Amino acid sequence: MRVLILGGIGEAVTLARMLAPVHAVTYSIAGKGRTPDLSCAVRAGGFGGADGLAAFLRENGIELLIDATHPYAAQISRNAALAAHWADIPLWAYRRPAWRPAPGDDWRSVANWSAMMAALGEFERPFFTIGLEPLRHVAEIPAGQHWLVRCLAAAPPASRQLTLLCATGPFRLDEELMLLRDYRIDALVAKDSGGGAVEAKLIAARQSRVPVVLLERPALPAADRFYGDVGRMASDLLGSGVRVRVEGSGKSEPVFTR
Ligand code: NAP
Repeated sequence: MRVLILGGIGEAVTLARMLAPVHAVTYSIAGKGRTPDLSCAVRAGGFGGADGLAAFLRENGIELLIDATHPYAAQISRNAALAAHWADIPLWAYRRPAWRPAPGDDWRSVANWSAMMAALGEFERPFFTIGLEPLRHVAEIPAGQHWLVRCLAAAPPASRQLTLLCATGPFRLDEELMLLRDYRIDALVAKDSGGGAVEAKLIAARQSRVPVVLLERPALPAADRFYGDVGRMASDLLGSGVRVRVEGSGKSEPVFTR
């Protein structure tokens, strides 16, 4: 079967590795980060919106589209739903399970940037781990507040109230604990990304009793099937009786069929 996987996260690479020996897989990335080393075809760069993706599906005879993108990559997920509908093929979606607070955690959920700013009003030294967005709001840093911003890469903004850390995860727990301590962080700002690659900061916040302000996930479109575990999805695509083990995955989530 010809399968297009929209990826960009570790589990999508794992899925491509599992399916490639059996199916004709193309793995697609936006092209901003590293290109994974895969035995299947790898395509880097956008399709030119939902229209372009639908054209790609038709021209390449794709029979199944898999959305295995990051939970905050909402645009490509919307494009995937439209394109699969227009090309009249099924869409299966991997939705990484959200993080869950442990007893005693102080997690505050916010829907958008202005709600986040309001929630941060009582803090002096927040640590932002939500990408580039804070750099677009440097002029809004309240008097008496200092921001530590960690992202993949960015030009340093001119503000004495902001420290920029350009770094690529995963990050170790001891590194995160040291960061919270050295920068005297009193609030952690994070996306509810789920997964293990960047979870150490939440454990560090828990151990340091630092409150967490979590940006809620965007609403994502419908799909023909949803999975919370790529091993389970691979099993369904490799045929019954084939057992697939995914290193480091949690327990299987139920499969929902529309
Ligand atoms: P986005 O806002 O949903 O997508 C923006 C545009 O990038 C899309 O319209 C599409 O361009 C292109 N694109 C995105 N993912 C693609 C893919 N897998 N293959 C081909 N084109 C893709 O996405 P984003 O938030 O910028 O994230 C970009 C990529 O990074 C995604 O693949 C995502 O899985 C990964 N990622 C995102 C985050 C995050 O926090 N957002 C974190 C880790 C990894 P066209 O319209 O031209 O097709």
